[in-house]
This record gives sequence, structure tokens and C-alpha cells, in this order.
Amino acid sequence: MPPSPAHVLFLFIDGIGLGPDCSTNPMADLGSHWSLLARHSGWTARTPFVDRARHVFRSVDATLEVDGLPQSGTGQASLFSGVNCAKRAGRHFGPFPHSSSKPVLATHNLFQRVYAATQNATACAFANAYPPVFFKRRARRNRWTVTTLCSRQAEVRLRSAPDVHAGHALPADLVGTAWNEHLNIAIPQQTADAAGRMLYRIMQRYQLTLFEYYETDKAGHGRSHLSIPTILSRLDALLGGILDDFSVTRDLLLICSDHGNLEVPHQKPHTRHPVPLVAYGCGAAAFRSATTLTDVTPALASLFGASASSPMTISPSG
Ligand SMILES: [Zn+2]
Repeated sequence: MPPSPAHVLFLFIDGIGLGPDCSTNPMADLGSHWSLLARHSGWTARTPFVDRARHVFRSVDATLEVDGLPQSGTGQASLFSGVNCAKRAGRHFGPFPHSSSKPVLATHNLFQRVYAATQNATACAFANAYPPVFFKRRARRNRWTVTTLCSRQAEVRLRSAPDVHAGHALPADLVGTAWNEHLNIAIPQQTADAAGRMLYRIMQRYQLTLFEYYETDKAGHGRSHLSIPTILSRLDALLGGILDDFSVTRDLLLICSDHGNLEVPHQKPHTRHPVPLVAYGCGAAAFRSATTLTDVTPALASLFGASASSPMTISPSG
């Protein structure tokens, strides 16, 4: 059994696949911290896998054995539950959770699995901050994203502006510009590197901290106001900040995505490419045999003492 890390940071990056190793793929040549995590300058289908006790880099399938283009609703529900929610739905669906995914997320999401394994009611945190408009819209329509639904079902607190001021949460763009300029909400602005150091300090207070970054998927659809190089260099700086004081004997950084998109920027829809899975630090070996999105959460739960092999019993979707 791999050793159990004291602290896990799950950095979920929406819409990055391992695509062709060519000049049109913006992920074929990345900054130094991305490169460190792959032991290679690019994250593509040709990047060699890393399989070490404290470092795994590999691809995982995101098609979930279902035809069509993977979507965020079923992809994220599968990633964060370990249950193939695309098969349950009979198709890829998104960006919000499919009705047949909701019972799964209500009982089997990653936070609940970690709570069950640790018996620690304060084990988990979701480090994204949401502005007031998000809560207003959700309350009106009761339509939650996969990650916010997981949080609500597991009673993991959704964070907001006061948490950003206190250094306990990050805005989605990492640096605070969007809240200040587009939402007219005054929050501290910081570099992506400082955001990474803040995320590292947050993860030190919990056993599992999740952070979701989705500007990558928006950029892949051509809908981000940030350029792809800006997004990738911000993420590189974020990784640098996380790794500054990182202890590979105590901490684990986990990175995964839900489907490809950004790696083929001239094509707006998602792709069927596999997605990267990185586990860096204590317990990384638990992820060495993961081959598909649904392998990630069971491996994560196993690090906290849950049985990775026991099948989850889910009633058939109605
Ligand atoms: Zn998308």
C-alpha cells in the first residue's frame, strides 16, 4: 500500500486532453512547472508516462466507453464519484449534471468517500470562491455544477468573498482581476504564483482540498477573454507557487481533467483524447494503474483507508 499523505490538493483543470505533439497544440511546449510534473516539456499523447513511487504521469480515458464527444456533466460526475455516469445516462451530457448522475453525486462523491474513510467531518475543503451572483442564480434555478453539487451534498462549505479576503479561497481566475473588473467586487489581486502559495497554505489545513479551474475549457471553446498562452502561463505560475514549499513526503498534488478541448484550439468542441493524470508526492503510486476517469476517486479514497476494490452499489438509473 502506498503511504497516506497528510494533505492532498486535487487541482481539476477543465478541458485539457493529451493531443498531437505538433505546433498547433498549445500544450506541446509548456512552462517549467508543467514540465517538471511530466518530466517532459510538453503534455501530449507522446509524453512518456512516469511511474514512480512519488510521481505518476499518465493518460486516462475520458470517453467512458460511450460514443460521441465527452461532456463536463457526465465526465466530472464520473471523475468525482468513480461511477461511470456517462453509461448511466446513456450518453455524454453537460455541462451540468444529468438527472441520473445526481443520485450518484448525492451519496458517492469524493468528499463523502473521504469523510467515510477518515471519519473526520472537517477533512475536506473546496477552495473555489463564488461571487454573490452565483448563489443568486443557483438558488433561483437550483441548477448546480458537478463540483458545487458534490460540495453541497457532502456539506462542504461553498466559499465566497469573505473567504478570499481571509486567504481561505481563490476566485476562479486565480488572480482576482475578473471579480474587480467584470463583477465590480473589490477583492485583493495577486499574481498566479501568490495564488499557488495561498492554495498550498489552504491545503495544509485539510486532508483533501479541491480546486477547479475552468478557463482552459472556455478558451478551448473560444469563449475566454484570456489568451491560451496567458492561461497556460498563469497555471504554470500557480503550480510553481504550490510547489514552493511542497513536501513530497507529506503532500500529494493530484491533477486531472474531464475531457479534451484546449489541445486542439482551432476546433471548438471537446475532443475524445485521453486526459492527463498527475499524482506528485506522497502516495502517488496509488494512481499508477488508473486507466479511466472512474479510477481516480477510488484510488484517492484508498489513500485515506477506503477499500479501492469494493464495487460501489448504485441503484440503476431510472
Ligand atoms: Zn466545454
